[in-house]
Amino acid sequence: MTDPINNYWQLKLEAVKQRLEANTFDVYIADSAEKAKEIALSTIIPPLGAKSVSWGGSVSFVSTGLFHALKDNPDFEVMDTFDTSLPAEQKFELRRRSLMADLFITGTNAITEDGRLVNLDMIGNRVAAIMWGPKHVLLIVGRNKICGNIEDAMYRVKNYAAPVNCMKLDKKTPCAKKGFCHDCSSPDRICNYWTITEKSFQQGRIKIILVNEDLGF
Ligand code: SF4
Repeated sequence: MTDPINNYWQLKLEAVKQRLEANTFDVYIADSAEKAKEIALSTIIPPLGAKSVSWGGSVSFVSTGLFHALKDNPDFEVMDTFDTSLPAEQKFELRRRSLMADLFITGTNAITEDGRLVNLDMIGNRVAAIMWGPKHVLLIVGRNKICGNIEDAMYRVKNYAAPVNCMKLDKKTPCAKKGFCHDCSSPDRICNYWTITEKSFQQGRIKIILVNEDLGF
């Protein structure tokens, strides 16, 4: 076998896809971030008839190129809820309006091998939109987000994803200095709302592209 690592991940992604589909998510597999963008633009988004689009500050979404492809398309109103040039109140208002968007796109902090999503939010706008509000939700998930079970997923979020996010955002938290969670009481704490999404209500409202590459934190 010339590429056992790729073969391993293809098998793993196919297994996770089946578990997610059994949990009422619609699931696609992409070989790369570029392919994920193509699947979203050619297969997933056109039948939705979405006009308004918002997002949850996802590195995975941006790194596929999909965010800018939609933002540059005049057929879509893209609410840029993370536009750093906007005052904080305006960003909050956009995040409130995002709950009424036709389509919300984001990543997930972790996904378990039995097909559940595990997320931890600072404000809650991202996990709220995954659960309720936008007509459609699209998650872009790199293979690095797959964890064996809920406990592993929560460990990953607290001791990898959150510290790296704090480092990226220049948060004044102990994890940004030490690289692991101190269950802090810092005003900059980004860990406030846990969610475990077991299934998609309604069937297929949440669509997931599993990507055979590492994406995001
Ligand atoms: S609780 Fe505080 S120290 Fe722990 S990961 Fe979150 S922000 Fe970092």
